[in-house]
Amino acid sequence: MRDQGMFSIIEKEEQRQKQNVELIASENFVSKEVREAQGSVLTNKYAEGYPGKRYYGGCIHVDEAERLTIQRALDLFKAEHVNVQPHSGSQANMAVYNTILNPGDTVLGMDLAAGGHLTHGHPLNFSGTLYNFVPYVVNAQSECIDYDLLEKQALEVKPKLIVAGASAYSRIIDFKRLREIADKASCYLMVDMAHIAGLVATGAHPSPIPYADFVTTTTHKTLRGPRGGMVFCKKEFAKKLDSKVFPGMQGGPLEHVIAAKGICLYEASQPEFKEYIDQVLKNVQVMVKGFKEAGFRIVSGGSDNHLLMVDVLDSIGMSGKEAEKLLDAAGITCNKNTIPFDTQKPFVTSGIRLGAAAMTSRGFKEKEFEQVTEWMIEVLKANNEQTCAAIKEQVVALTSQFPTEAIL
Ligand code: PLP
Repeated sequence: MRDQGMFSIIEKEEQRQKQNVELIASENFVSKEVREAQGSVLTNKYAEGYPGKRYYGGCIHVDEAERLTIQRALDLFKAEHVNVQPHSGSQANMAVYNTILNPGDTVLGMDLAAGGHLTHGHPLNFSGTLYNFVPYVVNAQSECIDYDLLEKQALEVKPKLIVAGASAYSRIIDFKRLREIADKASCYLMVDMAHIAGLVATGAHPSPIPYADFVTTTTHKTLRGPRGGMVFCKKEFAKKLDSKVFPGMQGGPLEHVIAAKGICLYEASQPEFKEYIDQVLKNVQVMVKGFKEAGFRIVSGGSDNHLLMVDVLDSIGMSGKEAEKLLDAAGITCNKNTIPFDTQKPFVTSGIRLGAAAMTSRGFKEKEFEQVTEWMIEVLKANNEQTCAAIKEQVVALTSQFPTEAIL
């Protein structure tokens, strides 16, 4: 019997996704094929172990699926080794830490307010409780990574690992320079490219693969795949890394998700995906321009990637929390976010983070992003319910012209 209780909730969420303008920088709309693989019979299969070395029988076909995903990941990112089993980005990061660190080891990780992720050493996260993470911040003027300062800090702190990569950083990251710093400080380098993986796949952002000992990623952000993680590493770490994922920290791999990862990697290798990423970058520039012209302060003065950070507190005296709520009421979904040296608590924040990956998947181009930026500015400046309601009607009218069926 169909579970109407649950399916009616899913239908409501589908409706929300269709109607709203989705600007959460870590979200995307996956293809029908990615969803098909995730909802496939592969979900029924146990396959502890790795292709050719499983602890269960009947793995002949999931072996083939996992091998194909592995090969596609290696080809797309030109890497020596990959583990496609981590269930999430956080677990991908945990797998690397378990491979090279002992509890208490010192690690340099980007401060959360500067754009880093929870798993880069936040005190409430396993990373911050198990290891001695020392945060690095961005330059107070440029709000960009200060590589000279980072080098000085690395030589002082003597970490065993430097973790680079971020959740809320809109500038190109210089992986070559980070490698030089890691070499000078005689430590490992891990790059968490979760946010920019799609850009790296098409060459729109330099690849960390040639420089880092380990590269972790999620598959569900700009890469536009299923929710999940992957870890790339140099051959020398392959065996240990694999053993830390299984049996180290996971049981049976999610073979339906692994197959969906394979499909997303196939899609990301197609010429249309490069066009898609190029359009994402153009659309972000439209938002940057619109907000700047309206007098808003953009963190670091702009963006080189798929997201921008708007300092709403400095610009219009509104917290990120209030801005998120107002925009939500107008059918525009984004998230509050701390900005470098934020004076507000993480649940309040001074900024909002806006990304173009999801709506570009739905077909939004410069024209639509110009319109949405105008609406956001109007909503934030007016700060009242009537404006939100009036804009919401227009948002619904616009999104209805970009049916999710094309992708969903
Ligand atoms: N790393 C970065 C840079 C992220 O932004 C995120 C998620 O937002 C993660 C890791 C964690 O991914 P997950 O939510 O799949 O654990």
